[in-house]
Amino acid sequence: MSTNRRSFLARGAALAAAPTIVTVVGGAFAESAAADTLPDYAPIPPSALGPAVNAQGYYVGRVEKNLYWVTDGSYQAAFLTTRDGVVLFDAPPTIGHNLQRAIDQIASDNGVSNKVTHIVYSHHHADHLGASSLFGRQVVRVGHVETKRLLARDNDPARPVPDVTFETHRTLHVGGERIDLAWHGTNHTPDNIYIHLPDHDTLMLVDINLPGWVPFDSFNLSEDVPGSIAAPAKAMAYPWKHYIGGHMGRLGTRHDMVVYQQYVADLIDNVKKALVTVDPTPFFTKYGNNTWAAVKTYQAAQADYAAAPVIEKYTGVLAAADVYTASTAFIILESIRLDLGFGSQVHS
Ligand SMILES: [Zn+2]
Repeated sequence: MSTNRRSFLARGAALAAAPTIVTVVGGAFAESAAADTLPDYAPIPPSALGPAVNAQGYYVGRVEKNLYWVTDGSYQAAFLTTRDGVVLFDAPPTIGHNLQRAIDQIASDNGVSNKVTHIVYSHHHADHLGASSLFGRQVVRVGHVETKRLLARDNDPARPVPDVTFETHRTLHVGGERIDLAWHGTNHTPDNIYIHLPDHDTLMLVDINLPGWVPFDSFNLSEDVPGSIAAPAKAMAYPWKHYIGGHMGRLGTRHDMVVYQQYVADLIDNVKKALVTVDPTPFFTKYGNNTWAAVKTYQAAQADYAAAPVIEKYTGVLAAADVYTASTAFIILESIRLDLGFGSQVHS
């Protein structure tokens, strides 16, 4: 633990830059949130952590050839240096001005231009794009048509709408480099795209697999659970060695994707068991005509039943299995019940 103290502290500083969470939690619960009353969780496996961040709070490294990635330990962006300037992939606000610092560092080391000419948007979410406006009006922004629609709806000056859009496929050629963009249906959001760099053996797909970690709360807050479950197989259909997941401190590999697919498959199997095994009787007996109290406690028990063997299997394999597996089990349970109709019985 102590060897990672520096990067832990830097990560804490990066998270502190997320003002809504810190303000709300700090304001509402500051008096009761004493550290010794908070729950304990299993240690993070060393395989979940990436390189230490520098004094400014970022790490920049090469993915392959002239493709680089930047992280603050929680969020990731990437950039491609070309003979005509730099293509940036996402602009997370937690990395913020460190994006240009990282680009300046690499450009100066390699004697190439540090001027960002294009920003490719993975999806519309502010936590991945909120530093876009730092790069000014002259940059060409590229994204899915639905990203443009959602950003126009959100009307956030930090996230200018894309200038160039596409519906299913678009290949960008910038400074002799090739970038293949594709939309293969909704998943995490309606607009989340696959960014493939065939000459760099790399796929960027954000908010699906967070290498080394279980998904964030409620299956990464997925807006389309069947779509999110299907996404890893679509990612694996591409040839690549390096995976940029948009989150946490390291890049991913094909092995990380296999482990993640197995984690989700194990959750689905155990959710199906929970749906036919956990007895609803005690919940409805206790809560009588308070149907929501009975349903809430019954479904929480089903989610816990499904999560327990998965938490046991993945503790020490994927970080925070004991933190968020039950919330993801709940979201998958609702999808299996509502999208697939599994466990529904028609009244006789
Ligand atoms: Zn997102």
